[in-house]
Amino acid sequence: MEDIKKVYDVIVIGAGPGGLTAALYASRSNLSTLLLEKGIPGGQMNNTAEIENYSGFSSIMGPDLSMKMYEGAKQFGAEHVYGDVKEIIDHETEKELVTADKSYFAKSVIIATGAEHKKLGVKGEAELNGRGVSYCAVCDGAFFRNKHVVVVGGGDSAVEEGTYLTQFASKVTIVHRRSELRAQKILQDRAFKNEKVDFIWDSVVEEITGEEKVDGVRLKNINTGDYSQLEADGVFIYIGLLPNSESFRNLPITNQEGWIETDSQMMTAIPGVFAIGDVRDTVLRQVATAVGDGSVAGNAAYQYVEELNEKMEKQEA
Ligand code: NAP
Repeated sequence: MEDIKKVYDVIVIGAGPGGLTAALYASRSNLSTLLLEKGIPGGQMNNTAEIENYSGFSSIMGPDLSMKMYEGAKQFGAEHVYGDVKEIIDHETEKELVTADKSYFAKSVIIATGAEHKKLGVKGEAELNGRGVSYCAVCDGAFFRNKHVVVVGGGDSAVEEGTYLTQFASKVTIVHRRSELRAQKILQDRAFKNEKVDFIWDSVVEEITGEEKVDGVRLKNINTGDYSQLEADGVFIYIGLLPNSESFRNLPITNQEGWIETDSQMMTAIPGVFAIGDVRDTVLRQVATAVGDGSVAGNAAYQYVEELNEKMEKQEA
């Protein structure tokens, strides 16, 4: 017997803070809700040591907040399955989400696929990934107890995670391509005060060196053009984000850089397709903003589905 095709009211793609909140709002509004995620719930929160700018918690470990949000998302009946969405096909009143092994169908879709860490693209980065090269201080920091690590970047992530690494490493050197950090002032002040953190300014990493594991970085001073070798046991790369929107490039919803554009209801150029959180073209990418986006989209999806149902009922009458 053939499976009866199930059409969800809403499918949320991605279970970071935005997606989990959208699933909570949608299911609490009685929408049949499916959460599709290809990794573990929590998204980038799982790679974040302490979150201290999410209201209600003076400080909470990223994985702990992930678990709390996941439990919250499921309390009103949202289903959660593993799924890596390769494409969305817009059949107008119905959206088809194509994964490797099957298609899922929904009246509306909320894209919450987030963003991933940019790669430096230098020699040694891919070769030594997992052998001293890391993009996640929470996951790998403890391997560098009493060791020297280099952190690349000058934004919130580099400075915050660099400071976090001092609880393991004997020394953390932040290498930044300019002479001024981009990170929030409070994070900068904390790093400047930390005796284990030092900075190398106006410099870029040209190569990550080592045979079996990282033994250092080859640096270039961009003002003088001089090269130098810095010994290190690990390199943590935090140079920004790229949108996880490859699967949606067939739709007219992304800008040139791949970020998804939405209106104030989080609706994209395609009716019934919403986008939230880090994958959205937005000015601030935080847990709090993703959660805010998720609540707006969950509510907007409810209104969209209600109107769609009314329209379809009228057509049938
Ligand atoms: P980001 O803010 O885009 O900063 C990237 C940093 O890497 C910049 O300092 C940039 O230098 C540098 N960079 C970029 N490409 C480089 C390259 N090829 N070589 C060397 N350096 C390079 O990225 P992020 O720090 O990952 O943060 C991403 C988002 O998450 C931001 O919106 C941030 O505010 C947010 N976030 C917030 C918190 C928090 O609130 N506690 C924590 C983490 C992240 P330039 O400065 O010269 O451009």
